[in-house]
Amino acid sequence: MAPTDSLVRVDQVTRKFSLDHSAVTALDKISLQIHAGEFLAISGPSGSGKSTLLNLIGCIDKPTSGRILIAGTDTSHLNPSQTSTLRREKIGFVFQTFNLIPVFTAAENVEYPLLVQGVSANERRKRVAEALESVGLSSRAQQRPDLLSGGERQRVAVARAIVHRPSLVLADEPTANLDTLNATHLIDLMRDLNRALGLTFIFSTHDQRLLEHTPRIARLTDGRIVGDSHPDQSKGAPYEQVLAACIS
Ligand code: ADP
Ligand code: MG
Repeated sequence: MAPTDSLVRVDQVTRKFSLDHSAVTALDKISLQIHAGEFLAISGPSGSGKSTLLNLIGCIDKPTSGRILIAGTDTSHLNPSQTSTLRREKIGFVFQTFNLIPVFTAAENVEYPLLVQGVSANERRKRVAEALESVGLSSRAQQRPDLLSGGERQRVAVARAIVHRPSLVLADEPTANLDTLNATHLIDLMRDLNRALGLTFIFSTHDQRLLEHTPRIARLTDGRIVGDSHPDQSKGAPYEQVLAACIS
């Protein structure tokens, strides 16, 4: 991939869902480019299409029309096995509800993606220790999730999402089940990892208070991007301009 290429390119993507007698357009011709090393928030009210967009970028779902490229690969051309390899190797996921395995310790939860990838035991031990250290949880490695606080559980989930060294971490409302203090700490932690490791993060939230230190925010309303505070505005109109076009 050339350095100027996008890590993620969302190109005129529409996603419609069919209901009994009608169709819902969850995303309507969305275009977005994200470069390696970016830290992007997708914000917008409930129902605006945030989860749909993250599921499409994470290759969990497919667009009705348009295409999504990850590291230059057009994901619509991949077969199911290639799609799952891409997902497993290149992407880490953090979920709103943590999704930790309750009978596993924190360390075993973090180790799991490496087991799936067939990484050797020695390498697994080393990487799990590094990942837990990077989220400040080395001392909690042997605890099961039920003995961890909500904030700690989500940090374990972040360690699990980065342990296989993905190119991209996707987090769908990762702070929705945290109080404001823990939510702020989690966003700060993700930002620190983004800076320290050059890891690309895309996370969604409907909580504007969490976006103070986020360098780029794409705002969704009714399945459309109504603002993108990218420092490089050359490819898109500034927020006010887009808004003016929408309401005129
Ligand atoms: P957000 O994550 O911002 O709350 P979603 O992406 O979940 O928004 O949903 C966007 C729109 O698409 C909503 O109107 C929602 O009801 C609809 N939608 C999402 N997923 C489905 C689905 N699987 N079936 C039908 N409608 C869906
Ligand atoms: Mg959602």
